Amino acid sequence: MDDQSVGIVQAPTATRIESCDLCVVGAGLAGLNALWVATDYLPEGSKVALIDRHPRCGGMWTETYDFVRLHQPHPYFTVGDIPWDWNKPPEYLATKPEILRHLEYCLSVIRKKFSLVELFGYDADIEANSDINPRQGLRIPCSALDPDRPNLTVEARRVIVARGNEVPIATPLNLTSAAVTSATPVDLQSHLQRDPSAPVFVIGSGKTGMDTAHQIIVSDPERPVSIVGGRGTVFFDRNWVAPAGLERWWKGKLTLKIFGDVAMRFDGTNYDEAFAYCRGKYTIGLDGSGEHCFFGYLSRQECKTVEDGMAGKIDQYLDDVIDTDEGPALVFRSGAMMPVPPGSIIVNCTGFLLRGDSPPIDRVSTGGAMLTISSRGSLHFLSSVSAYFLTHLFFSERRVNAPVYAIDTDALFELDRRAWFMAAITQAFMNPLVLLNALSMRTFDRCGLNTDRLFPLPRIVATLAEVQLNRRHYVEHCRQSLDRIAQTYGVRCGEIDWS
Ligand SMILES: Cc1cc2nc3c(=O)[nH]c(=O)nc-3n(C[C@H](O)[C@H](O)[C@H](O)COP(=O)(O)OP(=O)(O)OC[C@H]3O[C@@H](n4cnc5c(N)ncnc54)[C@H](O)[C@@H]3O)c2cc1C
Repeated sequence: MDDQSVGIVQAPTATRIESCDLCVVGAGLAGLNALWVATDYLPEGSKVALIDRHPRCGGMWTETYDFVRLHQPHPYFTVGDIPWDWNKPPEYLATKPEILRHLEYCLSVIRKKFSLVELFGYDADIEANSDINPRQGLRIPCSALDPDRPNLTVEARRVIVARGNEVPIATPLNLTSAAVTSATPVDLQSHLQRDPSAPVFVIGSGKTGMDTAHQIIVSDPERPVSIVGGRGTVFFDRNWVAPAGLERWWKGKLTLKIFGDVAMRFDGTNYDEAFAYCRGKYTIGLDGSGEHCFFGYLSRQECKTVEDGMAGKIDQYLDDVIDTDEGPALVFRSGAMMPVPPGSIIVNCTGFLLRGDSPPIDRVSTGGAMLTISSRGSLHFLSSVSAYFLTHLFFSERRVNAPVYAIDTDALFELDRRAWFMAAITQAFMNPLVLLNALSMRTFDRCGLNTDRLFPLPRIVATLAEVQLNRRHYVEHCRQSLDRIAQTYGVRCGEIDWS
């Protein structure tokens, strides 16, 4: 590839054209990881464009609720292996401003490697490329969100699209009752201040629901907080997957081992049995129950704080809140009703990361010049890990030796959440084993997203030696399970087609 970059030229239409070696669309964690990996393949000083609608990097973290905290030890939420520039213990859970500051810092590190054209506040039209000859470079029309700024076109030899899941910001639930307040985690604080004694009903028991309940219970212990949690969510026990301090020498288990243990019990059909095993051995949740898992982490202490502090847990799905002669009442999907005090605050914590309504994608398209990182064909349930390894495979000739599996997680999630969870765990165990054989050890060394790095080296080495020894058997088993899922559900779940 000719890596010579071209300067800015004026198009006849006066639309500015930026010509680059690489263009990355999306400045969230995935896009930044893709950029970081590209520094391994493009010469220093290459001209690279980074486009995002937001005014800064950070993706969904720029607009989520203020009291969100990372759920994993912070060093493993990063770009490549860029360390956090502080000395807090790994178990410290970073806050939203700290996460955003770290991502800004990561971008500043990347700026030293590339001549970076940062196009924040621009919407990239990816679909415009379907009829372009990739040899001439891809053209990405970008509309400025600020009407005072000019639109422009980015012309690039390669494009990586990391648009995230475009999770909509939660809106208040549309409730019939005029006697209650409908809120979201983002605007909750103002409602709590307005009525210091109003009871709160948290709708949803996933990470957002638990964060919200925990926040209120800790900061305002007198206020009654109930959780309407449907069939409930369980979380990986943080004390087990990420033990603190010296306990790391003997306590807990590496995630690779946990995933392997569960994946090897799953045969592609026994979803309920394998899920029950995983839940019983590795997860926690309110009163120990919960029928869903979305790979969140929770500590026993956080769980106990919510359990002890909450006024009640209601295992129902909320349909509406209506006004009756006796006052407002929650109406559940089952038909049951429950009276609540007037003025109650109903918080919508029902957001899902996978929505199933984005169009299916080709992994690599337009003559191999464009890579799309998307949950419609993911390599791992974390988009950051997907971005890291897919970008390596995109640039590297070694991809021919890496028969990794991609899954249309949106489609599978829509059809059966239990099957999605088991497929995701199987994939997250199998793909690294396949990649270990195909990519260099340096590639793995520079992937700081792996929480297993928290454990002492002898434990890591022992685990890696064991999986290497049994690698062929493990991979074969996982492939069979995933193939069965593909057959049962008719969703994309198989080897990536790089052609
Ligand atoms: C409440 C919540 C808590 C979470 N907590 C954790 C956690 O503790 N740990 C963890 O690992 N993960 C967590 N996650 C998952 C989180 O989504 C991922 O960690 C990660 O940040 C997602 O990064 P991304 O780059 O894939 O997507 P995003 O962060 O959504 O970034 C995508 C970017 O692409 C831009 N974009 C999209 N389309 C265009 C376009 N056409 N033109 C220009 N720009 C475009 C968007 O503006 C956005 O900035 C959490 C998610 C949520 C919702």
